[in-house]
Amino acid sequence: MSASFSRRKFLGAASGLSLGALLPAKLAFPAIHTSKTARGPKGKGPMIVCSRGERWGPKVTQPGFDILSKSGKLMDAVEKSANVTELDPEDMSVGYGGIPNEECVVQLDSSIMYGPTHNCGSVASLEGIKTPCSVARLVMERTDHIMLVGPGAQRFAVMHGFQIENLLTDKARQVWLRWKENVSDKDDWLAPQEGVEKNGKRVTGTINVFGKDDQADIAGITTTSGLGFKIPGRVGDSPIIGAGLYLDNEVGAAGATGRGEEVIRTCGSFLVVEEMRRGKSPDEACKIACERIVAINKRAGVEVDFNDKYVAMNKDGEVGCYAIMGSKKNPPYVCWMDSDGFHTHAGGFLIDQG
Ligand code: ASP
Repeated sequence: MSASFSRRKFLGAASGLSLGALLPAKLAFPAIHTSKTARGPKGKGPMIVCSRGERWGPKVTQPGFDILSKSGKLMDAVEKSANVTELDPEDMSVGYGGIPNEECVVQLDSSIMYGPTHNCGSVASLEGIKTPCSVARLVMERTDHIMLVGPGAQRFAVMHGFQIENLLTDKARQVWLRWKENVSDKDDWLAPQEGVEKNGKRVTGTINVFGKDDQADIAGITTTSGLGFKIPGRVGDSPIIGAGLYLDNEVGAAGATGRGEEVIRTCGSFLVVEEMRRGKSPDEACKIACERIVAINKRAGVEVDFNDKYVAMNKDGEVGCYAIMGSKKNPPYVCWMDSDGFHTHAGGFLIDQG
C-alpha cells in the first residue's frame, strides 16, 4: 500500500470486497438532483422483494420465491431469503462475516414483521448467532415481547437450539485491523504505511426482504451487522420497528439501509408506509423519506455527507426505491422475483455524485 494511503482510499478498496454501500466524498449542500418519479413497476402475484441488484438479488429472492410457490408459507419464505446473506461470508454487511464493531466483535441487528397480525420481533447487539432474523422471528412468535438485546437475546437463541459460533471471518478481521491501525495517530497502533486521514466515511450495508403471498398478505425482514467499527452496544435502525422496517398489511412494506441514526430520528420506514397509504407510489414515498432527512439536516446547518436508501412495495405489488446519494452509474436498486422471473428497478436519488 502506498504512503499516501487514506481512509477514503481504504474504504474505496474495501468496496471491492463487497462491503456494501460505501459512502461518498464530502459534499456541502450540493445541488439537489430531482429525478422524475412515476408509478413504478409492478410484480405479479406472489413475490419476494429485496434491496439489492443483479449480484445478490437472484440468489436472495429465489429460495423465498420457491417456498412461496410451493407451500405459500410467507414467513418461511422471507426468512429463508434473508438467511442467504446472513450465512454468506462474502456479504460483509450482514450476519456471518459482517464487519465488527470498534472492539472487533460482530454484533448483529434484525427485525421482522408479519402483516396479517401486525406482529413484530427484533434482536439487537446479538453476538455469536449467524441468523439473527430467525431469532427475531422467534421473539415475535414465541414470546410476548418485541425486542431482545445483547446477552439476553443470545441466551434466548441458545434456549431455542441455536449454536454460538465465531462470526468474525479472517477477511473481516483484516478490514478491522486496517481500520484500527489507521483510525488515529495518537494511539499505539501502527499501520504498515504512513498518513492517516481522520473522520473518514464509514462502512455500511444491510438487506431488506419483503414477501407478498397469493392472498396479498405481506411480511418483511431487515437484517444487518450495522455500522462498521461502531461503539459496542450501538443499535442502528434495522431492529427498530418503524425505522429500518415497517409494514401495514393494508398498505405495503418499507425498509431502510444506510446511516441508521438518520432513519431512526425520522421514523423513516413508517413515513414511507404512511405516504403510500396517502396514495404515493413506492418510489415517491421513498423519495419523501429521503427528502425529510436532508431537510432536517439542512435546518440544523449540518452537511449531508452520508447516504440512506429506502425500498418499498405496496399491497398491489408495485415496488420502488430512492436514495439520498447516487449516480447514473450507481443508482439505488430494488429487485423482485415473481412468476415472470427476476427483475430489477433503479430508483432515483437526491444528490448526484456524478
Ligand atoms: N442501517 C444500518 C445501521 O445503521 C447500516 C446500513 O444499512 O448500512 O446499522
